[in-house]
Amino acid sequence: MIARTPADFVAAVVRPEIRGLSAYAVAHPQGMVKLDAMENPFPLPEALRAKIAAAVAAVPVNRYPDGGAGAVKAALRTSLRLPESLDLILGNGSDELIQIITTMVANPGATMLAPAPSFVMYRRNALYAGMRFVGVPLGTGFALDIGAMLAAIERERPALIFLAYPNNPTGNLFPAAEVEKILVAAPGLVVVDEAYYAFADASFLPRLAEFPNLVVLRTVSKIGMAGLRLGYAVAAPEWTGELNKVRQPYNLNALTQAVALILLAEGALLAEQAALLKAERSRLDSALAALAGVVTFRTQTNFVLARFPDAPRWFASLRDAGILVKNLHGEHPLLEHCLRITVGTPAENDALIAALKTIR
Ligand code: PMP
Repeated sequence: MIARTPADFVAAVVRPEIRGLSAYAVAHPQGMVKLDAMENPFPLPEALRAKIAAAVAAVPVNRYPDGGAGAVKAALRTSLRLPESLDLILGNGSDELIQIITTMVANPGATMLAPAPSFVMYRRNALYAGMRFVGVPLGTGFALDIGAMLAAIERERPALIFLAYPNNPTGNLFPAAEVEKILVAAPGLVVVDEAYYAFADASFLPRLAEFPNLVVLRTVSKIGMAGLRLGYAVAAPEWTGELNKVRQPYNLNALTQAVALILLAEGALLAEQAALLKAERSRLDSALAALAGVVTFRTQTNFVLARFPDAPRWFASLRDAGILVKNLHGEHPLLEHCLRITVGTPAENDALIAALKTIR
């Protein structure tokens, strides 16, 4: 008699490449100083919380949300000063938009290309959609190897290229002239993922009209709304028209829409916090660079990537001191002995610096 356990059925029907994955690990930092996930560390002011409470109480949760999220789109349109010629699509985090974009172009045999190391969800989504993934190694100091990128584009003819601008987990911003070369050479869609735009000096958003194959992807996760799950992509309506066919009809829930409307109107507060985090980033970078044996890399994000004499040991010492950072050692050969540290509040950064000074 053939055994009929859940494991038998899993082995029989789950795709081997899915079985081979491990689920995306999310840390559980009870009571720790959380510097691992590029969140904005500042809690909302009390008055704003009260406003949110009232707005949430008024949401008719028995009804489906506005599937087109018209009010949130209009608010974003205004704050981004988008011209009529460009359209927006919203996602349950930019993570969902990465999945929607990938699904849209995943013809059998189609290729996704991205520099490596970069945001891990690009490769995972290629796998989910059955696309081939090609990673092009970054060069010295995590610079884009533009020669290798252009050669790979010629060779692989990717349907989709992801460029994190600035890049995660390395923190650096690729030169705009090199991104332009990729846009011009690409035979397919190029997504410039500006998750960290609030902390960077450059953007391709104002340049969308120049490149018919460009989609600019953004998120509000890094500027204080990671819990809402709201990302957006800006592109020509020809692209959003197709993307909307893949998007689930009610992908942005009613509570997120209600709260986003309130917080998107707080541009001054969010900008003030981003400016403070940029100043703290410099302070953190200097403190790290002053430690014997520690090397930091240039960053235009809300995190600092640094190489340590022994990253697993430094990671463990920080954890024992109640501070959670991201250990990238083992994730990619170029990230050997690297830790990625999100910029926290001034007090959290002080605690981090004090703890680092005690590690030998
Ligand atoms: N793109 C990049 C480059 C990221 O680093 C992240 C978050 N780590 C995301 C997209 C996803 O962000 P979210 O889903 O929170 O919008």
